Amino acid sequence: MALILVVEDDPEINSLMALTLRVENYDVAQARDGAQGIKLASERLPDLILLDVMMPRISGYDVANALSQTPETKHIPIIFVTAKSEMEDRVRGLEMGFDYVCKPFAASELLARVRVALRMRKLQEELRVANEQLAQVATMDSLTGLCNRRQFNRELEDELHRAARFSQSLSLLTFDIDFFKTVNDRWGHAQGDEVLRAFAQVLEDTKRSIDTVARLGGEEFAALLPATGHEGARAFAEKVRVGIEQMQMPLINGEDGEDETQTVGVTVSCGAAVLEHPENKADETTLHETVWVDRGEGKNIVPAEVLADAMNTTNLSPLARELMHSADLLLYRAKTEGRNRVVSS
Ligand code: GH3
Ligand code: MG
Ligand code: MG
Ligand code: MG
Repeated sequence: MALILVVEDDPEINSLMALTLRVENYDVAQARDGAQGIKLASERLPDLILLDVMMPRISGYDVANALSQTPETKHIPIIFVTAKSEMEDRVRGLEMGFDYVCKPFAASELLARVRVALRMRKLQEELRVANEQLAQVATMDSLTGLCNRRQFNRELEDELHRAARFSQSLSLLTFDIDFFKTVNDRWGHAQGDEVLRAFAQVLEDTKRSIDTVARLGGEEFAALLPATGHEGARAFAEKVRVGIEQMQMPLINGEDGEDETQTVGVTVSCGAAVLEHPENKADETTLHETVWVDRGEGKNIVPAEVLADAMNTTNLSPLARELMHSADLLLYRAKTEGRNRVVSS
């Protein structure tokens, strides 16, 4: 049952309101002045506050203002309680976005207003949760819990700006699990998903708090390492590569009637594109000019679909696209040079 806080300095009215609410089975907390009202609201986080306007020292408005300052209490709905003659109070309450009841109040009116306020509160709460879920869906890969490509792209743009601003290096690594199709074919899609989750965990365990790791799609992942040059990028990539190589995953093959558990190892290839920022040059133009792109040996053997995939970065800035592209080309070289390896710039 909803908890309602009554803040009213007149003891008789306070008791009468509390009684009226308790008859309807609401839980009621009572405060006799503004200070106590703020304290109880913060401690008990009621679903609704019935708030007297005219109180000594701290008025109802002061209480409402104080509660609007903290994130925990700012969404608690309020119904102001005013004397019937105080037209200005009623208007001011409405302007603050709250309802009001007049003293002396009729029980039926008070209860009707309480019900409406609680219903509004519930709807707002549902909306808030739905929005939070929506925000999560928009930024997160649901299988692994890592960032999705969209969010990764956003982080990439931010980090490029930061790297330019603070004259720092930035490394972008792309990973692709080797022969993943055979894992799916042999063990089934669900077990393949388990491998993807395990790989995501290795990335999570390897990253620093300022790094971003993402699943770009399928069995392709990426890591963005701020303030990281060649050495750091290689170290990170090797750690991930060895981590997944050493991981033996128990997979269950339930296809031929009898369940068979077997440990399976997978490997990963990585392309590491590093944007080494020359020291003491902080402006973005310099960054643009010095962006590293090695199309090297990979250039003429890159198949069209790899290029197309690398270019699947429609909304990226030229620099971000370039860095992505570099990482993808290096990854492709890691594949052609034998897989289970890191190729860096
Ligand atoms: P390579 O070493 O060249 O990367 O070989 P590969 O088999 O990993 O490459 P390929 O791109 O041919 O296969 C990728 C496979 O990933 C094919 C597809 O069925 C599988 N896949 C894509 N998304 C998912 C997913 O969400 N779950 C599972 N289980 N498999 C997926
Ligand atoms: Mg009063
Ligand atoms: Mg792939
Ligand atoms: Mg693959």
